[in-house]
Amino acid sequence: MCKLFHLIAFFLVVAASPLAVHARKAQARPLILDNIRIIDGTGAAPIEHGRLVIEGDRIAQVGPVDAIAVPANADRVDLSGRTVVPGLIDLHFHIENDPKLALRQLSHGVTAFRDPGQWDEKFVELRRMIAAGHLPGPHIFTAGPHIDGEHPAYPADSVVARDADEARRQAEINVRNGASALKIYFRLPFASAKAVIDVCNAHHIPCTAHLELLDARELIAAGLQGIEHITSFGTSVVPRNQAEAYRQAVLADNDARRDGRYKLFASANLDGPEAQALYAVLRERRPWVDPTLAVFERRAGAPPEGTKPEMVPVMVAGFAKMKQLTRRAGLEGARLVMGGHSTVPFASRGEAPWRELELLVESGLTPLEAITAATSTAAGFLYRTDELGSLRSGLKADLLVLRGDPSRDITAMRTVERVMVGGTWVDITQYAKL
Ligand SMILES: [Zn+2]
Repeated sequence: MCKLFHLIAFFLVVAASPLAVHARKAQARPLILDNIRIIDGTGAAPIEHGRLVIEGDRIAQVGPVDAIAVPANADRVDLSGRTVVPGLIDLHFHIENDPKLALRQLSHGVTAFRDPGQWDEKFVELRRMIAAGHLPGPHIFTAGPHIDGEHPAYPADSVVARDADEARRQAEINVRNGASALKIYFRLPFASAKAVIDVCNAHHIPCTAHLELLDARELIAAGLQGIEHITSFGTSVVPRNQAEAYRQAVLADNDARRDGRYKLFASANLDGPEAQALYAVLRERRPWVDPTLAVFERRAGAPPEGTKPEMVPVMVAGFAKMKQLTRRAGLEGARLVMGGHSTVPFASRGEAPWRELELLVESGLTPLEAITAATSTAAGFLYRTDELGSLRSGLKADLLVLRGDPSRDITAMRTVERVMVGGTWVDITQYAKL
């Protein structure tokens, strides 16, 4: 009886849902987006008077209006004055217990995301909601639980490996269960971290890491493809004795990071010998770096609750240095990407990716460079440049229509009017409420 009631309720909800009505299937006929400014995600200068042709779930043609003929039987939408950019890729999204947040972010233009460390069970509800809404996205990339050492920082999100052999086995299990990346967490010893990197390379998936105790220079030299959090470089930009004092403090208490990383950065010399050694590795290996600046943002007038007064200027100075190092890492060869981190101090619900883009620009990137970080470079870190991340022929038609021009002012990323995933328009007004 109860089951039957739920079944009926389910059908009523689905049938009554405007999503089912508005979610438009991938185009049967070619669709033309006309008279648009096109920012293609590769860093190329915008096409000011452009045309984009979509066939099925793919982009068929992109270019200036004059250069592209209108296919027969095409539907045409005149979007004069609007800008079209690729869908954003958020490479550091924590689903936690809030699957609705992924759909709210979709309404803000995030058409793909990676959760860098979580059990697959946490995505069941989101996948159900996507199926129920007949949604073509967001595209979900998972890493399985992150792989940590003993006394893990986040026990509920991790698997513990006590030695390299266990690390290898945990990594293999994650891959078998569908992980398209693996994440090393900071208590993992070096030999175990190396074992995880080797598993990634054997399966041709990227390996990324949140580091506090291990040295980023050593791990990148050992083959690590990516870094989560600019703070992962903290122990690489201060003298070794200072880095070791920080390591010992964090080994004794994971919470020593809270103030400790701001102290490290506030005192760091970004032109010193330690930083120079880091830059040499960045130039040689060109790792992806996901700074997640928004989660570390600190402002003098609005410190987090419980902050000691003497720490406020240290946090502000430390955060300024984090932005400087982000820019410097990019100039030295790191491939910067965008990770919103779900919930951050100075962004409203679902707006962390927008804040992260703004902070990348505050760090010194041009708006176009920031957009590239969140699109084609991010697709590179997913190993999916043939599918996602730029507006070119043959790729998935994942795109945003913006009222403003983010190549002039990055805050125009907030002017999302329409979102398309795989050739299908998403009813963003529904998801913006979640
Ligand atoms: Zn995180």
